[in-house]
Amino acid sequence: MKNFQWLFTLLLFHIALVNCKYESHANPPQNDMMLPVTEKMPVDRACSEINPVHLAGKFNPAEDSSFAVIPARFTPKKRIFLRDEALESFEFMWRAAQAEGVKLTILSAARNWTYQRGIWNRKWNGSRYAEFDGQERAVEILKYSSMPGSSRHHWGTDIDLNNFENEWFESDPIGIATYLWLTQHAAEFGFYQVYGDQTNGRTGYREEKWHWSYLPLAEPLLACYLSNPPVDAFENFDGSNWADSIGIVDAYVGGVDSPLP
Ligand SMILES: [Zn+2]
Repeated sequence: MKNFQWLFTLLLFHIALVNCKYESHANPPQNDMMLPVTEKMPVDRACSEINPVHLAGKFNPAEDSSFAVIPARFTPKKRIFLRDEALESFEFMWRAAQAEGVKLTILSAARNWTYQRGIWNRKWNGSRYAEFDGQERAVEILKYSSMPGSSRHHWGTDIDLNNFENEWFESDPIGIATYLWLTQHAAEFGFYQVYGDQTNGRTGYREEKWHWSYLPLAEPLLACYLSNPPVDAFENFDGSNWADSIGIVDAYVGGVDSPLP
């Protein structure tokens, strides 16, 4: 009888052990969907640690150790870059979206001053804006494109996702599902749509449902930018002389929705 009791105790112990193992397997403490740290970087730290040339885009992300190449599973583009922390958080967001049937595709990420100058000058000299002159032409282009030196894409914190037309996010079934997922979940990973519909009086660029910004870094970088704007970045491109009068720094760079507390 004594032996039987001993065996019974052993059996109970074994069941408890198996259960415990099963439990720990079912609820791993480190879920692979878990969020990396998305705490906001303090402004003074951002201003002292981030190289000021990054804010004006006067660098090559391919040669900068703060930036990483975006893996091919996230983008059809060859060798485009994002700041390490933003890319790490994007990867978590991408996986969470994929688990719910939403495919996030990065179409554009870090763009330096020279690249942005190419976009700007092509638009400035293209037929689409030929009917506008001087300041008016700059304002027309600025509906959706930044002047070199003023783009958040310089910072390596901002991405353009899936499609460059708001309409795709509003009327295509896949676009609607993608935008719904982003508005419900992107903030969990630190990403926000900073160019909203302007019904709140936001100045600057029109709404961009494709442009998402990694605010834990981009918000302190914006504060650094606004407190010490890189004024010498606004020269040597077509129409650069209009930068001041249209308020490129305050109305455009400063014209963002910032939902972080
Ligand atoms: Zn963008």
